[in-house]
Amino acid sequence: MAEFAGVSVSDISASASGQQHFVAAACFDPGQLRLRLPDSVEIRFDLKTAQVLRLSAVALLFVTGESKSGNEDKNSFSRALKFEFGTENESRDFCSAVEKCRHGSLENGTVIVHKSKFDDKIEPTSAKMYFHYYGQLLHQQNMLQDYVRTGTYYAAVVENRIDFNGRVVVDVGAGSGILSLFAAQAGAKHVYAVEASEMAEYARKLIDGNPSLRERITVVKGKVEEIDLPEKADILISEPMGTLLVNERMLESYVIARDRFLASNGKMFPSIGRIHMAPFSDEYLYVEIANKALFWQQQNYYGVNLTSLYGSAFQGYFSQPVVDAFDPRLLVSPPTFHTLNFTNMKEEELYEIDIPLNYTATVGTRVHGLACWFDVLFDGSSVQRWLSTAPGSPTTHWYQLRCVLSQPLYVMAGQEITGRLLLVAHSAQSYTIYLTMSVKMWGPGAEQGGILQTSTGKLDLKEPYYRLSQPQPYAWAQDQQQPQQQISSLDLSPQIQDAVDPALMQQSSPNSTAL
Ligand code: SAH
Repeated sequence: MAEFAGVSVSDISASASGQQHFVAAACFDPGQLRLRLPDSVEIRFDLKTAQVLRLSAVALLFVTGESKSGNEDKNSFSRALKFEFGTENESRDFCSAVEKCRHGSLENGTVIVHKSKFDDKIEPTSAKMYFHYYGQLLHQQNMLQDYVRTGTYYAAVVENRIDFNGRVVVDVGAGSGILSLFAAQAGAKHVYAVEASEMAEYARKLIDGNPSLRERITVVKGKVEEIDLPEKADILISEPMGTLLVNERMLESYVIARDRFLASNGKMFPSIGRIHMAPFSDEYLYVEIANKALFWQQQNYYGVNLTSLYGSAFQGYFSQPVVDAFDPRLLVSPPTFHTLNFTNMKEEELYEIDIPLNYTATVGTRVHGLACWFDVLFDGSSVQRWLSTAPGSPTTHWYQLRCVLSQPLYVMAGQEITGRLLLVAHSAQSYTIYLTMSVKMWGPGAEQGGILQTSTGKLDLKEPYYRLSQPQPYAWAQDQQQPQQQISSLDLSPQIQDAVDPALMQQSSPNSTAL
């Protein structure tokens, strides 16, 4: 491992009587940094709990203890050391050597990396593709150009200056660094912009290009599960939401960041998220999906009978949640919601999310499945603001999500629809969706509470069917489907999220769509 000779080191935490400045050679042992001083004195620093920050050719190292060779008196205390290098490259190499040493131990010359909570539950191939995706500017641009999203964050921050002014902020998954810059604009004392993908380098550049803000922002490259920060945060800001709120499993990282970095009475922006759900009827969508499998009904495809795969293909198409913007008049009942409180929930509570469903149909129709969307709250001290992705509200890059049942249900107006939405996290940073919907007995004999019809579906949130042509949020295989058509929101009711006006909902024809 590299040795750094003739480094100028200042102990910026030393008392006036202690040695404050010296020149040393820095080299690395497993888990330790060794500083050799000219008078053959050696100082060792434990790097396991150390934190390193770089400012051009200068590196700042924060350590919690040291041990001096040839000295029985082993002290343990906190120190901050400033290392001045000849070139920026040298300081970069030094910082990456510290990081390597910190996250792993050197054994027989090989770096053994300790697994983090992230690595324990996420497949490496999934993580690699995920961070590769976010490392590209085009995908960050897609999010920045979602003006509903970015504009709501901006408004929530600047309207609540009181929550940011003079405060320490951690931006969890900073991406381009945009939310860090907003926090700095709102007067943050210091912002730590934590980003795991290669986007961290671009964030540094972007922040560097804003001289009035850059002094108060430090980009820390790494996963929130793995990096350390020199101080606790007064407020966390993050945009960890995926399709159906929970896709990408980044909410878990947000909750872990809360436990690791947030001061006990600190704030979170956003603080809660809600998944909204309602049964819908959309004959056109149902037929479109069912028809995709018709290909496999050919008995003479170049002389080959394809029909034995028809059933599998049919089920396969219905296992894809549909992502598009739909007309809220397709909803058959007023929506219900399930709340996730990011400020006090346990990370493990996100592994399995079990939501009971109970609705009363407002019209007689065929129910084709469950429509879902989400919103999040910025619970500012001055202004409360919701970011909503509801149908009928201005469209966002998340659109809405619909789980379509291969077996539709028939309901009469006033009839009860019950069921369950079970979301089970998987190691590819997404969820398996288990949906059950039943129609209760109605009319004479209903008191017995019998179930008339039940329909179930198993869907993979990682494999959505994008029914749109616009740029999309993170998906495993972006190129897997050809866009088929554009369905735009009619923007009928911007306040649709909690109480859909039954008058806006479909009244008679199950065929009405937003087309
Ligand atoms: N905050 C930016 C980017 C949001 S996208 C904005 O609002 O525009 C989410 C970002 O979080 C991605 O850039 C992704 O790479 C990063 N991220 C996801 N999980 C992370 C983790 N565990 N640690 C650090 N960064 C993470």
